[in-house]
Amino acid sequence: MPEKSTPLRIGVLAVQGDYAAHAEALAEVGALPIAVRKPEELQGLDGLILPGGESTTMLKFLEKRHFFTALKDYCSGHPVFGTCAGAILLAREVRNPAQRSLGILDAVVERNAYGRQIDSSIVMADSALPGGPLEMVFIRAPRILETGPEVEVLARREGDPVLVRHGSTMAATFHPELSHDRRVHKAFVEIVAAVARR
Ligand code: GLN
Repeated sequence: MPEKSTPLRIGVLAVQGDYAAHAEALAEVGALPIAVRKPEELQGLDGLILPGGESTTMLKFLEKRHFFTALKDYCSGHPVFGTCAGAILLAREVRNPAQRSLGILDAVVERNAYGRQIDSSIVMADSALPGGPLEMVFIRAPRILETGPEVEVLARREGDPVLVRHGSTMAATFHPELSHDRRVHKAFVEIVAAVARR
């Protein structure tokens, strides 16, 4: 009889933003979501999601609670997925304006890059994920301006990378947790599972 496998424990940084929607999405793809509000809560997690919201607010919280360095250490050794503000936190460099970041994803991002008119939008675009076009919800999204040589672009919007992977780090400038389609979370959980099996 096959052993009943224990679910992967995936943290969601629950400081600000839409972490609850990520927790739901993770549960739907069979992982166990864990809310993370302090460094100790990173212990024993198989992976972590940094949600969308307001990166400046998250950054202030992390710095005030002496959580920035612990988070950076965790993210440099484990699978991590940043969406929107989370992608901004993960980037190597942030512009508009410049702000501190974890430097985990070899990319340069510009905050609030799509101007007032298309500040928030829903688009359908092709991606490297099987199963046809993917719905992408953009809310005051950042633009990925540059990516390093090891960064794989999994989807683009009008030429700009919007879903990328760098080893076991994933980032999206949109909000996959706000769509019904669970392919993006599934792709991340597969990365987490592959790392956990090693
Ligand atoms: N505009 C936000 C920021 O700069 C990101 C928006 C989002 O996460 N939806 O942090």
